[in-house]
Amino acid sequence: MAETQTNARSCAPEVARVSILGATGSVGVNTLNVIEQHGAKFSVSALTANNNIDLLYEQCQKFHPEVAVVANERLVDEFSAKFNGSGYKPDIHAGSRGLELAASLDEVDYVMAAIVGAAGLPATLAAAQAGKRTLLANKEALVMSGGLLMNAARTHAAELLPIDSEHNAVFQCLAGSNACDVEKIILTASGGPFLKHPLDELADVTPEQAVAHPNWEMGKKISVDSATMMNKGLEIIEACLLFEKNAADIEVAIHPQSIIHSLVAYVDGSLIAHLAYPDMRVPIAHALAWPQRIRSGVSGIDLAKLGPLEFTEPDRLRFPCLQLAYQVLESGGSAAIVLNAANEVAVSSFLDSEIRFTEIPHVIDAALQHLGHEEVQELQMILEKDQQARSYARTFIEQSVRPS
Ligand code: NAD
Ligand code: MG
Repeated sequence: MAETQTNARSCAPEVARVSILGATGSVGVNTLNVIEQHGAKFSVSALTANNNIDLLYEQCQKFHPEVAVVANERLVDEFSAKFNGSGYKPDIHAGSRGLELAASLDEVDYVMAAIVGAAGLPATLAAAQAGKRTLLANKEALVMSGGLLMNAARTHAAELLPIDSEHNAVFQCLAGSNACDVEKIILTASGGPFLKHPLDELADVTPEQAVAHPNWEMGKKISVDSATMMNKGLEIIEACLLFEKNAADIEVAIHPQSIIHSLVAYVDGSLIAHLAYPDMRVPIAHALAWPQRIRSGVSGIDLAKLGPLEFTEPDRLRFPCLQLAYQVLESGGSAAIVLNAANEVAVSSFLDSEIRFTEIPHVIDAALQHLGHEEVQELQMILEKDQQARSYARTFIEQSVRPS
């Protein structure tokens, strides 16, 4: 990630003011947990949520941000009324404009981009365009925007630091290296809950089984993505963009213990790995404090108690979504937007028990075949393509996919 290093500012602010987009989600809550451990180093300027106004209210009362945003405009009045009679009330905003405002407030130093899915793209882009240190959890925003987000970060000298544990690990393994000395990047993947599930029973797995990740506690969407391994597919695309690599430079290794978060292989035969217990507070603390280090609340690894660490190649038959991501990298252009949008629609339909688990890749494949791929460079075009792919995926599900 050459540009991240280039954009590095030498001094961190004495107290860094943080805006958290998606504060009520799994990454958002973990971010507040790390911030709470370091009250003297960070203050919370803005918090945003979509529907969970009860938790957003609790978070506001605890961290007293100046700004709170409810993305779902229908809930704003109810949220606002919660502050009646309370001595404190933040400036309350709504909708996507509110999210963009929270991402670009003058007083904010760091923006945690932790909204799930395509909904996070405009605000994440706004953070980069405002030159903020942008802590990128929202991988879908990068995948669908391609070079747009990277270019915005470069142009506006925004430090873009990866929060996805694998990419944060790679970032750490790359420190101080020359790009030409890197032979390949190896992203690890747990394999999710169905790594060893009988193949002929995959069609019958339930949403509850799919979201029960063996090692990580995460939001529902990314948990299903981990079960199909579309998460790793998105992460391969994410790694190509962040680290300026081609698909051929990125390998995936199944590592069920989720202790090694990724590795970088160098031309001299060295393989540098990043190890930590699977807890998102590790990459979050790293990116909040970078280039320094702070405690995350996660203990260091006890090597003697670790047990064996296993690595295998992913089974492409079991995980067809992985292949779809490689196809998209080969096609280029808007294919990644279509992949991401069709996946979001398919995952949501699976969670609503409208389609089977094994039909998720069919929906994505159909959208990719039907919609083709052209060059898209502006946000508006990206959002239009995203809508087109969503609408195609929904129609495909209604017309072609057998209800389960
Ligand atoms: P989550 O579902 O737990 O939380 C999502 C957050 O986004 C919530 O605060 C929600 O209110 C907000 N949100 C949802 N839809 C929205 C909309 N339409 N408009 C505005 N806000 C909206 O998700 P998560 O697991 O915290 O994941 C967040 C992002 O981080 C995802 O992109 C995911 O891929 C990435 N990520 C998560 C983890 C993890 O451990 N959870 C790890 C790596 C990367
Ligand atoms: Mg990850």
